[in-house]
Formats: sequence, C-alpha cells, structure tokens
Amino acid sequence: MRALRIHEFGGPEVLRIDDIPPRSPGPGQVRIRVRATALNHLDLWVRRGLPGVHLPRVLGADAAGEVMEVGPGVSTVSVGQRVLLDPGSSCRSCAACARGDASMCVRYGILGEHGDGAAADEVVVDDAQALPIPAGLDFAEAASIPLVALTAWRMLVPRGRLRAGESVLVHSAGAGVGVMCVQIARLAGARVVATAGTEKKRQSLAELGADAVIDSHHPDLARAARDANAGEPFDVVVDYIGKDTFRTSVKVARNGGRVLTCGATSGWDPVLDLRHVFFRQIEVIGSTMGSRADLEAALRCFDRGQLRPVVGAVLPFERAADAHRLLEDRAVFGKVVLTL
Ligand SMILES: [Zn+2]
Repeated sequence: MRALRIHEFGGPEVLRIDDIPPRSPGPGQVRIRVRATALNHLDLWVRRGLPGVHLPRVLGADAAGEVMEVGPGVSTVSVGQRVLLDPGSSCRSCAACARGDASMCVRYGILGEHGDGAAADEVVVDDAQALPIPAGLDFAEAASIPLVALTAWRMLVPRGRLRAGESVLVHSAGAGVGVMCVQIARLAGARVVATAGTEKKRQSLAELGADAVIDSHHPDLARAARDANAGEPFDVVVDYIGKDTFRTSVKVARNGGRVLTCGATSGWDPVLDLRHVFFRQIEVIGSTMGSRADLEAALRCFDRGQLRPVVGAVLPFERAADAHRLLEDRAVFGKVVLTL
C-alpha cells in the first residue's frame, strides 16, 4: 500500500510516497481504507522534526474512509461503514481515561506524531477512534473535521467556558482551527472578531459569520481589535500563534478575561508581562486535542448542519509536497485535503 513517509526531517522535499506492507487489525482494532486525509500544522512540525519522532514515519492525523476489516472483539463499527478517525488514542485505564478525559492521559498519542499516521491507503486504529461520518458529507469534508473540530471545541467550550453574549478575538482565523473557532463561537452566541492576513480571507471569515474582521498585520493590532469590539477589551482571546501575538492577546483581554492557547505556530517562547496576568487577573488556559465526548459533541453539530467543514484545497495523494507548501504558505482558506 502507498504511505506518505519521511526518512529524514526537513522541508516538503523529504516527503516520499513509499510502498509498505499493510497491517492486520489486532483485538479491539479496525482496518480502514483511507479515502481522504487532511493536513494540519502538526504534520509540518513532525516533518521538520519533533523530539521522540522515530523514522521512518507515516504522517497524517486526520482521515476518513471505509472500514475494511475488524479485529476480534470489535462491535462498535462494521465492515463497509463510512467513518472518520479520532486522531487521539490513550491508555483507557488511568484516572484521566476513566473520567473520559483522554487528552489528559499521560500516554495520550496522536496519529502521525506518536506513531505512524493515517496518510496511507490503509490505517489500523483502535475501534474507539472510528466514528460515523456526519450526514451529507463526502470523504474530503469528513477528513477535514476531526483534529480541528476536536481542538476548537475543547478549547472554547469545556476549557474556555465560552458563554452567549461574550466577546471573542480569534487571531489568524483563516486556517483550520481558526475557521472552526469562529463557527463554534458564533454557535455559542458569542460576538466574534477575527484577524486574517489577506483581504480574501477576511471576506471569507465575514461570510462564515465573524462579526468583524481585521488585518492581522495591523501596526497597532491591540487597538484595532478593541475598536472592532466597540472599544471594549475581550472576554476571551484565542491564540495559537504564540510568540508574535501573545503579548497582544494578554493586553486585549478584559480584567478577569481568558486567553486560550492550543498551539504556537510562530514560536513557543513569547514575552509575557506577568503584571497584566496578576494585576488584571487574566486566566491563561492551555488546551490540547480533546476527549471522545468533545469530538462527539462537535460531530452532532455537523450532523445538524450547525457547523460545516471548510475545505480550501483538495489535491491527489501524489501531490502531498504541494499540499504541504500550500499549508506552509498560508495560501488556502480552510483545510488542505489529499484524496486517495
Ligand atoms: Zn489513560
């Protein structure tokens, strides 16, 4: 079977499509014929080199396809069923797992980061990772959902405690997680200000429901953001950019406001003025991936049409390197998906 692998860390040129033997599912596992796999910033981090990533490595956290084969003891899915994959797996026996909090498990792993991923003709995963595709979605749309929907849902809803009537600032909202945050925040009844680097993305964010959209390159981003929020600071700020934006994020949060972080695409060592954090009682809240319940809650919203996948580019599997470049250059609004 074909698999998108790296044998060394580096740029898109290190991506290879290798022919590797397929695996059989063990007890509690299922074998999936992958029809589409979506890219995430995680793929770029893994490709460039992360500690603990062993080579060669099959990339890919997000996928959708059909169940080909089920291992002994599997009853949750059946052969032929159309499924998407929860990219996270956990030990299923620790205290965090027992209370349904998989992403708090010390053995939590993500497809493609902590083991081989789903960017291949086939993948074998735990049965708990295979969930039915929401009504009316094709494989490319389904593959675009799991990682970003899971991440955005957990960060805004259980972690961020976002409530109707609150204001939210979402930085660089034209990519996967941002597009999902804007939709979930609107669904929660919040007022959303989003930033984006191009006029085209700003227009797309307005069409998606953002109440106001500003240029992420504005020389005084904090003032521009407050101006877009009737001159008021924000109840909640979503920041996965990190180094370039975190100072602004803390500055524009109201006294007692929440700054949510689930990533740091520009660097993970921002300058943080602690006087703002303690004097103004700002909560900095970390969030990563999510639980099965988080993903199921988000998927119900897709089923009801309250959230929708935003796929910006669909390329054939062979063009994986071009797809990585599109994501790296932030050239696409929404998700980049490869089809197999
Ligand atoms: Zn566990």
